[in-house]
Amino acid sequence: MIIDKETCIGCQLCQPYCPMGCISYRESEEKCAIDLDECVECGICQRPKVCPTGALQQQELDEMRNLRRTFSNPLVPHKTTSVPGRGTEEMKTNDVTGRFKRGHAGVAVELGRPGTGTRFCDVEKVAMAVAPIGVVFEPQNPVTALMVDTATGKMQDGIRDEKVLSAIVEFDVVIEKLEAALTAIKNVAPQLDTVFSLDLASRMSADNTVPTADIARKVGFVPSYNGKTNVGLGRPLAKGV
Ligand code: SF4
Ligand code: SF4
Repeated sequence: MIIDKETCIGCQLCQPYCPMGCISYRESEEKCAIDLDECVECGICQRPKVCPTGALQQQELDEMRNLRRTFSNPLVPHKTTSVPGRGTEEMKTNDVTGRFKRGHAGVAVELGRPGTGTRFCDVEKVAMAVAPIGVVFEPQNPVTALMVDTATGKMQDGIRDEKVLSAIVEFDVVIEKLEAALTAIKNVAPQLDTVFSLDLASRMSADNTVPTADIARKVGFVPSYNGKTNVGLGRPLAKGV
């Protein structure tokens, strides 16, 4: 997103809409400007149409700016998954997809939300921390599609400095390896220049306990059971899982 200097009147009405805080007022010019290194191309500043002069303008986007946009603008679907936003159906639909079988855990590391953003260098750090444990990255996730090697979690060259609103590293791991995966996430956390939330999904055990909870506690995470459960939007429950 850019601000046209000729038409901006410096009213600052657009500023509060930017989740990245990258619209600044320049006193010397009495106009606003956007720091393009911090702008994630989410389009949020433009959508409410608060600019009285039309100075907020969507510039032509090259490949890297488009990458920012697809991970940040919830109206734009990803090419690889056809899903908008972070581009993955996410683990909360497990009751209907049955992705995570008994004896397995689904893990998602959601980087950058709600208003911090993340760069792909941090996404890569998380992916590379868990890959050696033998996790299976979710194939229907655009972060996985950006990896050059899912065995190592290494991402494509040239994208590491690109900033997006949020990206999810999502994988399946057998329960026996969950402690190692969560420990790897805990260890890499201090190296990240962003925030993240950690999601765990699993089938309930026969005795109605949650098999991932004690493992998470052992590693030092405090599980919260207030997660969102998608009951399927009319789709039948998965069978045989
Ligand atoms: S497109 Fe998004 S990040 Fe960029 S200036 Fe507008 S609100 Fe801020
Ligand atoms: S709302 Fe429009 S005119 Fe006002 S500061 Fe933002 S870009 Fe400039």
